[in-house]
Amino acid sequence: MSVKSDIVEIGRRLYAKNLISGYEGNISVRDGEKIYITPSGLCKGFLKEEDIIAIDIDGNLIEGNKKPSSETQMHLTIYKNREDAKAVVHAHPPVATGFACAGLGLEQSLTAETVLMFGTIPLAPYGTPSTEKLANSIVDYLEYNAVLLANHGAITIAENVEKAYFLMEQVEHYAKITLVANLLGSPKTLPCEEVDTLMALRQKMGIDTGMPRFCSTGSDVKYYRFSKEELVNLIKGIIDELGG
Ligand code: 13P
Ligand code: ZN
Repeated sequence: MSVKSDIVEIGRRLYAKNLISGYEGNISVRDGEKIYITPSGLCKGFLKEEDIIAIDIDGNLIEGNKKPSSETQMHLTIYKNREDAKAVVHAHPPVATGFACAGLGLEQSLTAETVLMFGTIPLAPYGTPSTEKLANSIVDYLEYNAVLLANHGAITIAENVEKAYFLMEQVEHYAKITLVANLLGSPKTLPCEEVDTLMALRQKMGIDTGMPRFCSTGSDVKYYRFSKEELVNLIKGIIDELGG
């Protein structure tokens, strides 16, 4: 199997699983100095190996005669900031994107599996598709292997393209579970002690992605960490409170 045929197969699966429609989504794989990426504006469900483009880390064309994905900059930002990243999948999974359109990440610790695999799935702020603003919007969230993009979709990052694809499947699966748990009434999140236990287990299993940002027990919320933006806003809020 070549990198190109792997990408073609993952495009086929994304389309077959309704994680993308029409011309949506893009896939890339880093192989040494080369980054293989899908072409812009074609259905990723029916690609051929010759459609796949190779570029370098600065976006210069190495191989191929099609236009690289309009989100190339976002993929390159990930590879520049994460040495371990070997594959990136961007899709518009409908339920997860619904959360991203409602201004919500998938941050409730509802299933043990998701806490183990993802830590959490945060929401990055909106950036217009194809722009530097979108590429920069994810920089504060790159410790996570899956991130929702506000009013747009999701990205997953992994050590190979099949794993990045499975993470995307799991993002959508977890979005459905989260939706049902919330529709049924008050969802019961895992208690903080259990989240701590899962974090310890995860370390033993060698799973290395960001921590959940918080857990809650009843009305108490325990914070593990903040994004830079949240921390800045928090400090600003405290300063305002003290000043006022
Ligand atoms: P491309 O076809 O240019 O990769 O764009 C698809 C997409 O999802 C843009 O965000
Ligand atoms: Zn998109």
